[in-house]
Amino acid sequence: MDLSSDPNPQPAASPSGPTKREFLGIQFSCCSVYVRIYKNREGTHYEGNCPKCYRSVRFAIGSGGSDSRFYTAY
Ligand SMILES: [Zn+2]
Repeated sequence: MDLSSDPNPQPAASPSGPTKREFLGIQFSCCSVYVRIYKNREGTHYEGNCPKCYRSVRFAIGSGGSDSRFYTAY
């Protein structure tokens, strides 16, 4: 009789999952500074502010087929 005890291979379920924050690199032409802006809570836009003059920028996510991750805010 073969009693091969199975080590019960359950996949280690990671509670958080692959939730890395995506960002865009933004060059603010107003102040010539480069910053990263992150997705908003809804995941519909990238939102951020110029660190010097606090001008806000907003980029829609998923519009168009561009996979460029670097933009200039004019
Ligand atoms: Zn600025």
